[in-house]
Amino acid sequence: MKNLDQRNQIIRYSLKLNSTNLSPLRSGNISMRGREDDIEGYLITPSGKKYETLKPEDIVFMGLNEEDKKDSGNNPSSEWRFHRDIYVNKNDAQAIVHAHSPHATAVSSHGKTIPPFHYMIALAGGEDIKCADYATFGTEELSKNVIKALKDRSACLMSNHGQVAFGKNLEEAFELAQEVENICHQYTIALKLGQPKILSFKEMKKVLDKAKNYKKG
Ligand code: 13P
Ligand code: ZN
Repeated sequence: MKNLDQRNQIIRYSLKLNSTNLSPLRSGNISMRGREDDIEGYLITPSGKKYETLKPEDIVFMGLNEEDKKDSGNNPSSEWRFHRDIYVNKNDAQAIVHAHSPHATAVSSHGKTIPPFHYMIALAGGEDIKCADYATFGTEELSKNVIKALKDRSACLMSNHGQVAFGKNLEEAFELAQEVENICHQYTIALKLGQPKILSFKEMKKVLDKAKNYKKG
Protein backbone atom coordinates (compact mmCIF):
# COMPACT_ATOMS: atom_id res chain seq x y z
CA MET A 1 0.00 0.00 0.00
CA LYS A 2 1.23 3.51 -0.87
CA ASN A 3 2.40 5.72 2.05
CA LEU A 4 1.90 2.93 4.59
CA ASP A 5 4.24 4.53 7.18
CA GLN A 6 2.37 7.84 7.03
CA ARG A 7 -0.99 6.09 7.22
CA ASN A 8 0.14 4.19 10.32
CA GLN A 9 1.49 7.37 11.89
CA ILE A 10 -1.85 9.14 11.34
CA ILE A 11 -3.65 6.21 13.00
CA ARG A 12 -1.20 6.26 15.96
CA TYR A 13 -1.89 9.95 16.56
CA SER A 14 -5.65 9.54 16.00
CA LEU A 15 -5.61 6.98 18.82
CA LYS A 16 -3.74 9.58 20.90
CA LEU A 17 -6.63 12.01 20.31
CA ASN A 18 -8.64 9.37 22.21
CA SER A 19 -6.15 8.42 24.93
CA THR A 20 -5.17 12.02 25.79
CA ASN A 21 -8.82 13.11 25.61
CA LEU A 22 -7.75 15.90 23.25
CA SER A 23 -10.59 15.02 20.84
CA PRO A 24 -12.08 11.59 21.53
CA LEU A 25 -14.22 9.19 19.49
CA ARG A 26 -14.61 10.74 16.02
CA SER A 27 -14.28 14.48 16.66
CA GLY A 28 -11.37 16.39 15.15
CA ASN A 29 -9.14 15.16 12.33
CA ILE A 30 -5.49 14.70 11.39
CA SER A 31 -3.52 15.01 8.15
CA MET A 32 0.05 14.86 6.83
CA ARG A 33 1.47 16.38 3.69
CA GLY A 34 2.37 13.67 1.19
CA ARG A 35 2.55 12.62 -2.42
CA GLU A 36 1.17 9.71 -4.35
CA ASP A 37 3.00 8.93 -7.59
CA ASP A 38 3.79 12.46 -8.78
CA ILE A 39 0.74 14.13 -7.24
CA GLU A 40 1.37 16.60 -4.38
CA GLY A 41 -1.24 16.34 -1.66
CA TYR A 42 -1.99 15.13 1.84
CA LEU A 43 -3.23 12.05 3.68
CA ILE A 44 -6.22 12.70 5.93
CA THR A 45 -8.43 10.82 8.36
CA PRO A 46 -11.79 9.67 6.94
CA SER A 47 -15.02 11.44 7.88
CA GLY A 48 -17.05 10.22 10.82
CA LYS A 49 -15.08 7.06 11.64
CA LYS A 50 -14.24 6.17 15.23
CA TYR A 51 -10.47 6.42 15.71
CA GLU A 52 -10.31 3.02 17.40
CA THR A 53 -11.58 1.35 14.20
CA LEU A 54 -9.13 2.98 11.74
CA LYS A 55 -7.13 0.80 9.34
CA PRO A 56 -4.38 2.03 6.97
CA GLU A 57 -6.69 1.77 3.96
CA ASP A 58 -9.21 4.09 5.65
CA ILE A 59 -6.81 7.05 5.45
CA VAL A 60 -7.65 9.09 2.33
CA PHE A 61 -5.10 10.62 -0.06
CA MET A 62 -6.19 13.96 -1.58
CA GLY A 63 -4.32 15.92 -4.25
CA LEU A 64 -3.84 19.63 -3.49
CA ASN A 65 -5.93 20.47 -6.57
CA GLU A 66 -8.50 17.81 -5.91
CA GLU A 67 -12.06 18.52 -4.83
CA ASP A 68 -14.13 16.21 -2.64
CA LYS A 69 -13.89 12.51 -3.47
CA LYS A 70 -14.73 9.03 -2.38
CA ASP A 71 -11.71 6.80 -1.84
CA SER A 72 -12.25 3.07 -1.41
CA GLY A 73 -15.53 3.65 0.39
CA ASN A 74 -14.25 6.38 2.73
CA ASN A 75 -14.93 10.08 2.43
CA PRO A 76 -12.09 12.39 3.45
CA SER A 77 -12.66 14.37 6.64
CA SER A 78 -15.38 16.95 6.13
CA GLU A 79 -12.69 19.55 6.98
CA TRP A 80 -10.43 18.69 4.02
CA ARG A 81 -10.83 22.27 2.73
CA PHE A 82 -8.96 23.93 5.59
CA HIS A 83 -6.36 21.14 5.66
CA ARG A 84 -5.75 21.70 1.91
CA ASP A 85 -5.69 25.49 2.29
CA ILE A 86 -3.18 25.31 5.16
CA TYR A 87 -0.84 23.15 3.01
CA VAL A 88 -1.26 25.56 0.08
CA ASN A 89 -0.67 28.68 2.20
CA LYS A 90 1.96 27.49 4.70
CA ASN A 91 5.11 25.96 3.26
CA ASP A 92 6.27 24.88 6.72
CA ALA A 93 3.08 22.90 7.45
CA GLN A 94 3.85 19.18 7.18
CA ALA A 95 1.09 17.93 9.50
CA ILE A 96 -2.15 19.30 10.93
CA VAL A 97 -4.19 18.42 14.03
CA HIS A 98 -7.74 19.73 14.45
CA ALA A 99 -9.26 19.02 17.88
CA HIS A 100 -12.41 19.75 19.87
CA SER A 101 -10.30 19.83 23.04
CA PRO A 102 -12.46 20.84 26.01
CA HIS A 103 -10.84 24.09 27.19
CA ALA A 104 -9.91 25.38 23.72
CA THR A 105 -13.52 24.75 22.65
CA ALA A 106 -14.87 26.52 25.74
CA VAL A 107 -12.66 29.56 25.11
CA SER A 108 -13.52 29.48 21.37
CA SER A 109 -17.20 29.89 22.23
CA HIS A 110 -16.36 33.45 23.33
CA GLY A 111 -14.90 34.12 19.87
CA LYS A 112 -12.06 36.15 21.34
CA THR A 113 -8.33 36.37 20.72
CA ILE A 114 -6.37 34.93 23.68
CA PRO A 115 -4.14 37.74 24.95
CA PRO A 116 -0.65 37.11 26.39
CA PHE A 117 -1.71 36.33 29.97
CA HIS A 118 1.19 33.80 29.84
CA TYR A 119 4.34 34.00 27.76
CA MET A 120 3.77 30.43 26.43
CA ILE A 121 1.25 32.02 24.03
CA ALA A 122 4.40 32.56 21.92
CA LEU A 123 4.39 28.84 21.04
CA ALA A 124 1.80 29.57 18.36
CA GLY A 125 4.19 32.07 16.76
CA GLY A 126 3.08 35.50 18.01
CA GLU A 127 1.92 37.67 20.90
CA ASP A 128 -1.59 36.24 20.95
CA ILE A 129 -3.67 33.33 19.64
CA LYS A 130 -6.42 34.39 17.27
CA CYS A 131 -9.91 32.89 17.05
CA ALA A 132 -11.27 32.23 13.55
CA ASP A 133 -14.78 33.62 13.01
CA TYR A 134 -17.56 31.07 13.12
CA ALA A 135 -18.72 29.33 9.96
CA THR A 136 -20.44 25.96 9.48
CA PHE A 137 -18.09 22.99 9.71
CA GLY A 138 -16.65 21.74 6.44
CA THR A 139 -17.29 24.96 4.49
CA GLU A 140 -15.06 27.11 2.27
CA GLU A 141 -16.03 30.04 4.52
CA LEU A 142 -14.66 28.25 7.60
CA SER A 143 -11.44 27.55 5.73
CA LYS A 144 -11.08 31.24 4.78
CA ASN A 145 -11.63 32.27 8.41
CA VAL A 146 -9.05 29.72 9.63
CA ILE A 147 -6.41 30.88 7.13
CA LYS A 148 -6.99 34.49 8.25
CA ALA A 149 -6.62 33.60 11.95
CA LEU A 150 -3.43 31.64 11.16
CA LYS A 151 -1.65 34.68 9.66
CA ASP A 152 1.87 34.55 11.16
CA ARG A 153 0.72 31.77 13.52
CA SER A 154 0.88 27.98 13.63
CA ALA A 155 -2.29 27.52 15.73
CA CYS A 156 -5.64 29.23 16.24
CA LEU A 157 -9.00 28.70 17.88
CA MET A 158 -12.12 28.21 15.76
CA SER A 159 -15.18 29.99 17.13
CA ASN A 160 -17.77 27.69 18.77
CA HIS A 161 -15.85 24.68 17.48
CA GLY A 162 -12.29 23.99 18.72
CA GLN A 163 -8.72 24.55 17.58
CA VAL A 164 -6.26 23.73 14.82
CA ALA A 165 -2.45 23.46 14.96
CA PHE A 166 0.21 22.59 12.41
CA GLY A 167 3.89 21.72 12.58
CA LYS A 168 6.91 20.48 10.67
CA ASN A 169 5.90 16.92 11.58
CA LEU A 170 2.95 15.20 13.24
CA GLU A 171 4.62 15.02 16.65
CA GLU A 172 5.13 18.79 16.63
CA ALA A 173 1.59 19.55 15.42
CA PHE A 174 0.09 17.25 18.07
CA GLU A 175 2.26 18.74 20.83
CA LEU A 176 1.24 22.26 19.82
CA ALA A 177 -2.45 21.27 19.96
CA GLN A 178 -1.79 19.93 23.49
CA GLU A 179 -0.06 23.19 24.45
CA VAL A 180 -2.98 25.26 23.10
CA GLU A 181 -5.32 23.13 25.22
CA ASN A 182 -3.11 23.71 28.32
CA ILE A 183 -3.03 27.46 27.68
CA CYS A 184 -6.83 27.56 27.32
CA HIS A 185 -7.21 25.54 30.52
CA GLN A 186 -5.00 28.04 32.39
CA TYR A 187 -6.86 30.96 30.79
CA THR A 188 -10.27 29.68 31.94
CA ILE A 189 -8.94 29.37 35.51
CA ALA A 190 -7.38 32.85 35.34
CA LEU A 191 -10.70 34.34 34.14
CA LYS A 192 -12.53 32.84 37.14
CA LEU A 193 -10.40 35.10 39.38
CA GLY A 194 -11.23 38.23 37.37
CA GLN A 195 -9.32 39.90 34.53
CA PRO A 196 -5.75 38.57 34.41
CA LYS A 197 -2.76 40.88 34.02
CA ILE A 198 -1.66 40.89 30.38
CA LEU A 199 2.00 40.96 29.33
CA SER A 200 3.03 43.99 27.29
CA PHE A 201 3.75 43.91 23.56
CA LYS A 202 7.39 44.82 24.39
CA GLU A 203 7.75 41.88 26.79
CA MET A 204 6.20 39.48 24.28
CA LYS A 205 8.61 40.70 21.61
CA LYS A 206 11.46 39.84 24.01
CA VAL A 207 9.94 36.38 24.61
CA LEU A 208 9.49 35.77 20.88
CA ASP A 209 13.13 36.71 20.19
CA LYS A 210 14.30 34.45 23.01
CA ALA A 211 12.07 31.57 21.86
CA LYS A 212 13.90 31.50 18.51
CA ASN A 213 17.04 30.24 20.29
CA TYR A 214 15.20 27.96 22.70
CA LYS A 215 16.45 24.39 22.32
CA LYS A 216 13.74 21.76 22.44
CA GLY A 217 14.41 18.53 24.31
P1 13P B 1 -14.81 14.54 10.32
O1 13P B 1 -15.13 13.22 10.98
O2 13P B 1 -15.55 14.72 9.01
O3 13P B 1 -13.31 14.75 10.21
O4 13P B 1 -15.41 15.69 11.23
C1 13P B 1 -14.97 15.90 12.54
C2 13P B 1 -14.87 17.37 12.82
O5 13P B 1 -14.23 17.73 13.78
C3 13P B 1 -15.59 18.35 11.96
O6 13P B 1 -15.25 19.64 12.30
ZN1 ZN C 1 -14.26 19.91 14.13
